[in-house]
Order: sequence, then C-alpha cells, then structure tokens
Amino acid sequence: MSRLATTGEVLQLIRSGEALTRADIGRVTGLSRPAVALRVSELLGRGLIVEDAEGPSTGGRPPVRLRFDAAGGVVPVASLGASRTQIAVCDLAGDVLVRTDLDIDVEEGPEVVLPLLMDTWEKLLDGQAPVVGVGLGVPATVEFAAGRTESARVMASWTGVVIPPIIAERFPVPVLVDNDVNVIAMGEHRVVYASELDDLLFVKISTRIGAGVISGGSILRGALGAAGEIGHIPVRDGGGVLCRCGNLDCVDSVASGTAILRDLRAKGREVSTMADVTALVRAGDAETMAVVRQAGRWLGEVISGAVNLLNPSVVVLGGDIAEMFQPLVSGVREVIYQRSTQLATRSLRIERSTLGPGAGLTGCALMVLDHVLSADAVDAASGRPASFAGC
Ligand SMILES: [Zn+2]
Repeated sequence: MSRLATTGEVLQLIRSGEALTRADIGRVTGLSRPAVALRVSELLGRGLIVEDAEGPSTGGRPPVRLRFDAAGGVVPVASLGASRTQIAVCDLAGDVLVRTDLDIDVEEGPEVVLPLLMDTWEKLLDGQAPVVGVGLGVPATVEFAAGRTESARVMASWTGVVIPPIIAERFPVPVLVDNDVNVIAMGEHRVVYASELDDLLFVKISTRIGAGVISGGSILRGALGAAGEIGHIPVRDGGGVLCRCGNLDCVDSVASGTAILRDLRAKGREVSTMADVTALVRAGDAETMAVVRQAGRWLGEVISGAVNLLNPSVVVLGGDIAEMFQPLVSGVREVIYQRSTQLATRSLRIERSTLGPGAGLTGCALMVLDHVLSADAVDAASGRPASFAGC
C-alpha cells in the first residue's frame, strides 16, 4: 500500500484472512510495529476482533492470532415473499443464528407488515446485542440508495414507500433494502461460488420472474436499482398473452409459475400450486413435461440475451422449481446454446440454486455487513463510543 493503511483497512485484511497476526499486518501494509499495535488495539477495543492465544508454533513463542469476531454483533434480516416471509437474526459472518417463517400477505401493506416484522425481530433477538444493521429483501423493484419500493403493479400498497426510516425508528442502525432476487443472488454467490468465479446470473422462477446480476464480484444494480428486471422482456411466438404490465408476451406472462399453472389448467390438469406441478413432473406426466420445457425455451430466449450482454460464468436457476429443474433446464439449454455467442457459452454452466430460499437471508446480512464493516464505515466510526458505524 502506497499510503498508511487505516484501521478499517486492517480490519478488511483480518476479515478476509489475508493477515492473521500483527506481523502479517506489518508485512502486508508496510506499517511500523507501533502503528500496527495502535490499529489492532482499537479494533480489539471496539469488539470487532478477538485474540486467539494459540498460533502456529515456529519454535519460539507462538504468535497471537487475530480473528474477526463474528459473534460481536447481530443483523436482523427478512426476506419478504408475496405470501410467506422469512425472518432471521444473523451473526457478523452472515450465518443465520435463529429463524422463523411467517405467513403474511404483503398486500396488507407496510403499515401492517413492517410492525409485525419488527415485533418478530425483537422476540428473536431476546436482548442479543449489539444490532449493527438491518437488511430487508422485498419482492419489488427498489431504488436502492433511498430504500424506496418502486413497483406499481406488484405490491401496489407499497409503491413509493421509503422503508429505512420506518425501521430506523425502532432500530436506530443502518437499514438496507433491496429487491428479493438481488439479495438471493448475493447470498448464493458469496456462499457457493465466490471462491471460484466473479460473474453470475441468478434467475428466480416463481410467481414472477426476476434476475440478479453479480458482475466482477459485486451486485449490478444499474442507475437506480432496476437492473435484472428481466420478467418484462418479450419473447417471440408467445401466442399474444397479455401481461399484467400491459404488454404482450413478456417472459413473465408465458414462463412464470403463474403461467405454467394457467397453461396446465387449460390442458385439463388440476393444479393449484407449484407443488402440484412438481408431483406431475415426478410422475412423468408427458404433457406437464412439455409445458415446463416450453417455459424453459422462452426463459432461454431471455437468458441468452443476458448471457450475450453479461458473459456470466454460471447461470443459477432458483425459485419454486424443485423437480421441475430437469425439463426446465433442458428447454433453457436448447435455446441458450442456439442463440448465445460461442465465446459466451464456451464454459457457461447452468446450475440449480444450492442454498434455496435461505439464500435471501444470508444475502440480506451480507448486504448490511459489506456496508457497516467497509473500511470507510469503520474509519468513520473511529473514536465514537459505540462499536459500529451508525450505532
Ligand atoms: Zn410484462
């Protein structure tokens, strides 16, 4: 480093595992011994790191190991779904400590849903402290910087709601809100793929279709946070289906869970949930397989455009697709390999989501932790009595 490393930067080295001892920090940063000692003692004093007495012995006195203290605080998180919401408290590594699921209809609106969420967090927290930040994933387009929901047609009662100040009244810490698919993409990438690749496209196929883009290791949000809203890209030969957005043949209107159920009912199948579709796929029902595979082809059309634009290493398919994955992915593959450029598909992998719905909770926690534990945030909070920025 060409200038003196700050306390916040030293914390990043310890969090990432690049530096495990005071000597490591000196070597990596070029800081003098007293300067290293000063920064380390500040981090110890703020409860951000702990010392482990045992280090790798090299004959003499074993060096004291420094370790980021994942138990030094907690992050209440929630992943809101249309009818089901996952609520949890995570530690500072993003791991879920305690979790509960609630059946809440998000259309009841923020004045009902948000107090219920906060009551649940308080119960789960049960005095655990300190709370360093709060993270929320919502099934709507979100203007990320403001935490404002911007979706007029889904979650109508939430349109234009600025969520962070409402939560900060009870939890006076940084509150971060993002689109549900973005937080799932972040969780899936960090936990499953971060060590091997930096570019991932996550496509959620559920009641609606959305995508989250990890580019160069970071979430791609676009100018206001609307990147990845692929659900309303039209497909060819969709048959003229009117989408809820008012356009024809959006991929959402022909290949979402809602569309698959509608198409199967039109063919005389008695299905009311995705679990019913799963059961038919498992039983090998040919007509169901054909409908799901066609949905996969339409998805493949839109995903191939995204692959040409973004060149991801892996496309991860998630959502309520459990047993549907095989017929769906064969449809997706068929079209992607026809339509995408050879270079973009040379080593492209298409995988099923590994973490499942729990990825949203971890993603929410990571979004908060990347913010409150960033070098800038840690340095900005330096000298304040509390341990964390914003507390
Ligand atoms: Zn549409």
